[in-house]
Amino acid sequence: MKLRRNFSKHLLTIYKTLYNSFGPQDWWPGDSPFEIIIGAILTQNTNWRNVSKAINNIKRARLLEPKKLLKHKRVIPRLIRPSGFYKLKSQRLIGFLNYYIKNYQGSVEEMDRQKTEILRKELLQISGIGNETADAILLYALSRPVFVVDTYTRRIFSRHKIFNYHVPYDEIRYFFEINLPNDVQLYNEYHALLVKLGKEYCKITKPLCNTCPIRDIKTWISGYVIQSECNPFR
Ligand code: SF4
Repeated sequence: MKLRRNFSKHLLTIYKTLYNSFGPQDWWPGDSPFEIIIGAILTQNTNWRNVSKAINNIKRARLLEPKKLLKHKRVIPRLIRPSGFYKLKSQRLIGFLNYYIKNYQGSVEEMDRQKTEILRKELLQISGIGNETADAILLYALSRPVFVVDTYTRRIFSRHKIFNYHVPYDEIRYFFEINLPNDVQLYNEYHALLVKLGKEYCKITKPLCNTCPIRDIKTWISGYVIQSECNPFR
């Protein structure tokens, strides 16, 4: 399926409407790129409160530093237990630490010298790191202009008939990237706003369409209208 190029105006209208409704989301929480990376790995299949507890455990143990954390890898499962699936996530985190130290000496400055596409390929080779996590690391920890696609993005835009829910990840990412300005801050905020919309309005069952800020967005493009008419039962 080829996703269309001429959606810039429509996507920006949705963005502005969400921003005006919800305000800035101040993503991603974290005091350093390394903390953001840990958060991106731990946040899979859990809520942020649990991730935050796990990160605080690492901080309290004074291990929020790549080489130290790898040296004490035996305690990682205990420290990150609040984030759920802690055995699996420990393996992912250790996989990332091995890669990060071997290739970039555990330095974000070193990692930041590498090209985005190469970093993306490298991250995707780490067991358990998928497209969404790799792109969250690239966007939020390294400020690369990569659009993060998640379940909320798929649900919201497929309900609005802009693309099918099952379109491959990279096609959706490309769709946003060719239709939006190449702007890290815009990608940062847009993804965060979609997460908020998905959590608070576009729920899996019983979406709150009647009060949703984007329920009746229309955009005129070259004489025809793109209407954000939704089908919440998709
Ligand atoms: S109008 Fe309904 S389907 Fe569309 S984003 Fe809002 S809650 Fe979801």
